[in-house]
Amino acid sequence: MARILIVEDNAANLKLMAYLLGASGHEVEGCRDGRAGLDAVRRAAPDLAVCDVQLPSLSGYDIARALRADARFRALPLVAVTALAMRGDRDRALSAGFDGYIAKPIEPETFSAQVEAFLPLALQPPRPAGGTRP
Ligand code: MN
Repeated sequence: MARILIVEDNAANLKLMAYLLGASGHEVEGCRDGRAGLDAVRRAAPDLAVCDVQLPSLSGYDIARALRADARFRALPLVAVTALAMRGDRDRALSAGFDGYIAKPIEPETFSAQVEAFLPLALQPPRPAGGTRP
């Protein structure tokens, strides 16, 4: 179980991601504005943040750069979730400081496992012996 913060302005996407991660046993907080999302990370210090790129007030890139410039959050697992799925967008997300990138639309079957792959090992859910990741 991990504490996960989601920053996503699209209400339906936020609801879906929060539902999927909650159903996987995680404690989830959601935020629909970039500036509020950055403040929420600083306040809540989650184990991992999932962040949309196109957001009101601050973009996901801005959030990633601000967190990477802050010693407290330099190593925070930070996953971009966006429909901007061209190769250049992926590179731009990684160079802004994201650890990884999940393309929209969200795949309900695999989303939680995709996110969990970025958690520290100690917070990853146990996998059945001999099992394979979905
Ligand atoms: Mn958006």
